Amino acid sequence: MTARMTIDCYGEPIASGVQWVQPFAMDRSCRFPLLLPWCALAVCFTACDKVWEAGRSHEAPEVPVVAPPPPPEIPPPPAKVESGPVFNPQAQISILGYHDFSATRPSSDMVIHPDRLRAQMELIRRSRIPVVRMSDYLLWKTGRKNLPEEAIVITCDDGWEGVYTEAFPIFKEYGFPFSIYLYQSYLGGSGRSLSVDEIREMMAHGCEVGCHSASHDDLTRTRPDLDTWLQQELTGSLEFLRSTFGVENVLPVFAYPYGKYNSRILEGCAGAGYELGLTVAPKKAAHGEPNLELGRFIIHGDDDTNFNQALTFKGTVINPSAALSGLTDVALRPGNQSMVTTRFPRIEADLSKVQGIDPNGVTMRVSGFGEVPCIYDPESGRLHFQTVEPLRARNVQVLVRFQRKGQEKADTIKWSFSVDLEKLYFEGSDPAMQPVPVKSPEPGS
Ligand SMILES: [Zn+2]
Repeated sequence: MTARMTIDCYGEPIASGVQWVQPFAMDRSCRFPLLLPWCALAVCFTACDKVWEAGRSHEAPEVPVVAPPPPPEIPPPPAKVESGPVFNPQAQISILGYHDFSATRPSSDMVIHPDRLRAQMELIRRSRIPVVRMSDYLLWKTGRKNLPEEAIVITCDDGWEGVYTEAFPIFKEYGFPFSIYLYQSYLGGSGRSLSVDEIREMMAHGCEVGCHSASHDDLTRTRPDLDTWLQQELTGSLEFLRSTFGVENVLPVFAYPYGKYNSRILEGCAGAGYELGLTVAPKKAAHGEPNLELGRFIIHGDDDTNFNQALTFKGTVINPSAALSGLTDVALRPGNQSMVTTRFPRIEADLSKVQGIDPNGVTMRVSGFGEVPCIYDPESGRLHFQTVEPLRARNVQVLVRFQRKGQEKADTIKWSFSVDLEKLYFEGSDPAMQPVPVKSPEPGS
């Protein structure tokens, strides 16, 4: 019986490459004589090649070596390229800037009532946007750590005792990290400043410390001893904080007093070793922003504009103004940022805990439909709309607007949910994809 097989020059079968097909079967004992002419030819070619090479280089030809050439070395695989940590440069980060907190003094630009702070933290919690440490933000900004698509950083300037007495319990309750920016001449001083012990206690619960100058003066002012003075304001104050709290416990982050800086201050900050600088420009602290000129939303005690702006992200849906008006107890269905597996959801807002709603002024808008004929029941306080046309879009936004007695502006609640189109499609349970059923004739007709 004749078999075909592929063999190498040692007569062993091989799997691939340039192959010699042996046209007939043979046993091992007869392979060697057959191979001899081939081996002789190979040696001859090798020798001729070497002679030719030697002739080219005008050197005496070497005596050909008869030994078989060493097997070709397999080159090592290329070294693995270390790509470093993956980070998300598209992330949207809002840095919130607070100052003082008080339950007894009137609210102002600088002073926030703890109830308002709590409402804001509750809103952040419900929005599910994570609050991250400033140190994590720093790592992200310098390409060393990832951050989620959207995140919030909480900062408090100056070192007011209200941070410890009013805000710290709330931050702790919500588990939100925060950072404080201290200026040397106010730390541990009289009046309403934080003490070192209070700061240390807060540091043990997620508080980080950064620098806010030595004197809190406007650093852009001209003065005769500017160089020495700036040295003290930027470098001296940082050294003071490090000697007080430990080098590793002070962030290389500088908050400009009054948000004021110029090119000279930027140079000074870089020279002093600061990696981030916080301004008061109300904008997102995006990855592309210069590290020493980061935007920050200063949160005022009597106006929510900056807070609303800070909490407006691509995926954020609850309107902060609603939460700040005491509307945090509005249950929504489908839930905010939830996913439904129907194109015909019943959309509901339980407004029973909101007092004084004008029943005639309640409206609902649903993306794709515009204003919809929703039903508000003043007795139960429930508002609902049953979709009758299938939702076509994957993401659905809902806007409920209503007027409360005694309020100048209408309140709005905004939220969104999504439709799991894949599940509907693959399960075949999507009514929008089903053929219209043919009505069977009525009996007797
Ligand atoms: Zn300040």
